[in-house]
Amino acid sequence: MWYTKWKTEISNVSEEKKSEDILVCDGLVKIFKTEDVEVMALQGLDLKIKKGELVAIIGKSGSGKSTLLNMIGGLDRPTAGRIYVDGKDLFAMNEAQLVSYRKSTVGFVWQNSAQNLFPYLTALQNVEAPLYFEKMSEKERREKAGRLLELTGIAHRAQSYPGQLSGGEQQRVAIAVALAMDPKILLADEPTGAVDSKTSDMIQDLFRKLNRELGLTVIIVTHDISLANKVSRVIMVSDGKISTEKIMKEKYRQKLDELSTENLQEIDSHEEYSVLDKARRVQLSEDVLKEAGIDSHMVRVEVSDGKIIISK
Ligand code: ADP
Ligand code: MG
Repeated sequence: MWYTKWKTEISNVSEEKKSEDILVCDGLVKIFKTEDVEVMALQGLDLKIKKGELVAIIGKSGSGKSTLLNMIGGLDRPTAGRIYVDGKDLFAMNEAQLVSYRKSTVGFVWQNSAQNLFPYLTALQNVEAPLYFEKMSEKERREKAGRLLELTGIAHRAQSYPGQLSGGEQQRVAIAVALAMDPKILLADEPTGAVDSKTSDMIQDLFRKLNRELGLTVIIVTHDISLANKVSRVIMVSDGKISTEKIMKEKYRQKLDELSTENLQEIDSHEEYSVLDKARRVQLSEDVLKEAGIDSHMVRVEVSDGKIIISK
């Protein structure tokens, strides 16, 4: 029947769409309870990221960025809402499945290299460490670790201990460690928070190279806007929700490699969008309201010429 065919086509399309998204966060809520207060770190956050995307998540300190990343990394569970990674529902996983997910689906890079590396192992041994329980020979393990150090541009320091390396070099090793188990998603929480701006630029370039050459999905959390400027999709988190997104204009996206971070700060490289949530709510920034002279909690909404006008 024609309509059966039509129905199948429709469902195929949505199947395809689903598989394109490597990450789907659906109404994520996280409440931290301490003795006398409850903090709502995530307030119904929705987010979709496609396979092979490189995104930066930015927001003020305390806005919920690390909480979000920890949920995606399977290090903590949401109070409510769902997370699907590569089609799998993290909420439905038991502890053993979650351990295996953390080990093989996601790779983590932290700000603090002490969290990333064992100080008493050389760079090469650090990259080998996650591979110890894999079915591979010692030689294969060593070769793979060596290749990863080459990929991240730090093979010449393979025999050095973390304490003998600079902050930027340590982060290169940490990224190689995070890639050891061939993760589908690389998560980085303020990976350049402890290095100078030149090193930060180099690490940022490395993330872009991994994204481009391996097709790896990369999610970088940062509070550094200049770092985010080089990324084609920037997601802004405020008060536990996504408020706006900045998408790089096509003409800049094509010649991204030629542009330096300084260039990008000067030009208007991104288009900023407000995000409509599932209940069709949109968050307006204080700056926008101030510019429009709106100071009350009630606003008038009208449609004119295909535009929505919000006024006092
Ligand atoms: P960001 O990484 O954007 O700086 P976080 O995700 O670390 O923000 O924190 C979001 C909010 O949740 C903050 O108000 C923080 O104090 C609170 N928070 C985070 N982790 C915990 C925790 N383990 N216990 C209690 N409160 C927490
Ligand atoms: Mg944080």
